[in-house]
This record gives sequence, C-alpha cells and structure tokens, in this order.
Amino acid sequence: MDKKEVLWEQLKKKGLSDHEIQAKMEQKLQEVGGLLTDEGALTIIASELGIIKEQDYLRIGDLLDGMTNVNIVGRVLGYTEPREFQRNDGSKGAVSNIIIADKTGKTALTLWDHEVRLTEQIERGDILKIVDGITREGRRGVQIQIGRGKVIVNPEDDPRIEEIPPLFKLTERPTERKEIAELEEGNRFCEIRATIAKLYTVKFYDACPECYKRVIFKNNVFFCPNCNKKVEKKRVMIFEAGLDDCTGFIRASFFERKAEEMLGTTSEAYYKVKDLMSKGHDARSAQRQYLNEVHQTLLGQEIVVSGDVTYNEYTGLTFTVRDIRELDIPQECYSILEELG
Ligand SMILES: [Zn+2]
Repeated sequence: MDKKEVLWEQLKKKGLSDHEIQAKMEQKLQEVGGLLTDEGALTIIASELGIIKEQDYLRIGDLLDGMTNVNIVGRVLGYTEPREFQRNDGSKGAVSNIIIADKTGKTALTLWDHEVRLTEQIERGDILKIVDGITREGRRGVQIQIGRGKVIVNPEDDPRIEEIPPLFKLTERPTERKEIAELEEGNRFCEIRATIAKLYTVKFYDACPECYKRVIFKNNVFFCPNCNKKVEKKRVMIFEAGLDDCTGFIRASFFERKAEEMLGTTSEAYYKVKDLMSKGHDARSAQRQYLNEVHQTLLGQEIVVSGDVTYNEYTGLTFTVRDIRELDIPQECYSILEELG
C-alpha cells in the first residue's frame, strides 16, 4: 500500500465511506487550489479528524504532503544562496532551500522572502527545529515550509537531537577501491590498500577550534582571521607518509585525529619533537628524527585508507586521508577471490 492507500484505509476505519472520502478530498483540493496532491489532501483531512495527531515526534522519513503543525528536527547539510525573483504581480520575492537530515532521510526547508535571512544564522552541521511547519510536495519529494510556524536554531530541549547522526555520517558516501596508479586530482571517496613506504614529516600548528584555520597571536590573545574573533587555540598535528601499493606511490596526509590514530596524542608528539629541538636539531630535522626514532615500525605496515586526492605544487599528488581502516585480512581475501571469479 502506498501512503495514499494507507490514509484512505485509516479514514474508512474512522467510519467514512469511499464516496465521502472522495468528496472531502476533492473539496480540499479545490480549497487549496491545485498545489496539493491527493495524498496531501488526505493527510489534512486525517489530521483535522484527529487521526494523525501525535506529530510531536515526527521524523523526516514520516513526512507526507499536506501536513500541518509539522514539528521536526534535522541537521543542516547545506543551503542554497537566497535567489531573488519577480512575481507575476511585479513584486520581488526571494527563495532559498536548506537541506536538513536525520537518520530516516533528507528534506528541504524552503524559505520565502524575509525568511531567507535565516541562512545568515546557520552553518553546516547546525540542528534546526521546525515548529508548526507545513509540508508540500516539491520537485524532489516532500518539502517543509515554515508557514505560520517558526524555526529554532540549535535547540537544546528535544529528545530527537540525540539520535541525529553527526554531519560526517549523514554525508558519508560509499567509497570506491582504487589502485594508486589510477588516482587523479579531484578523486573523492576513494579507498586504497597500501604499504607505508616512507615517513615524511610531522607538523604542528595552532588552529581555531571551530574552522581549523591557522590562528594569529595579537594583543596577547589568539585570533582567528577566518571567524574574525578571539578563540582558544587548538594544537593540530599533520602527519605525512608515502604509501605504495605496487602500482604506484603517493604522498598521504593524515590530519588531526587521523594523525593521532597513526602516531599517538598530539601533545606527546609535540613535546618529543620540542625536546629534540632543545638538543640542537632544527625543526625539520627534529620532526624527521622523531618519526625515525619513535615510529620506525610503521614502515612496511599495510593499511587501508579512504579519502580524497588533491594536487599541491610542492608535494605533487596528495591523498588526504579521511578514514583509516584496520586491514581485515579475511575480507580482503574474499574480495580478491570474487574479482578472480
Ligand atoms: Zn576560525
């Protein structure tokens, strides 16, 4: 049964005949003026009759066309820049879409006119709570509009917030296994299986904890030029290694937590490098010495990493690691056997 049939059945259980349902539906469609689907009209009738009432804890996957009093929470995946347009009567309008998601799906919150200013207050990853919104069937499925309702940015009081996955989980895409020889600039979500063949360097910098851009120290405080505000600095480690899979060799960059997965905590690495510098090494040689002394055993280890390929004029093609997987030997064997047929 599709959603329309489900609603139809629910209305029949409430005591309405097929004929009555059909008549109510047509009346509703006429009232709203053609912007509504049959399913949407039935949803409105069902909510008016109190059949659909507990809408406090709706999930995005539950949304149907024509709902009112929609109460939903989702994480912002992105939004379109507000676009101005001219209405038939000559007046100016503006429109923008915010894409939100929870564990059950994705939808767009469509903003009209003055509502588009909301895009100035939000960022990717924020949580939005829409209270008393409405739904309409759009080009890409059911979408939400604020209507007479409101939007709360980063609410704290809703139990559904806890079940909303973090941004990287919501935007995760399947990775594609590749050979290093095939990698090209711009490849994203690739996975390679390779041996660590070279330890290049480990570097540290003071970052803004929000945007990870480099902070500057001025007037005795740390300042993020990107966020344009005073911040607490966060020390970030970048580890670079050479990976080899027999088809080719590529420089790989492990950032922050990925670097810690490889080398241990940032502060431990930082103080060991600093210690070497105090014994007369310059920064570069201290970094290299630290890797050779402490992490020699990484050489020759096999790892499976996924990430993106970028080009850098100093280091050439670089693999930016987003995820490190433990090498799962039986799984690897099965996939090789499958390839061999
Ligand atoms: Zn910043």
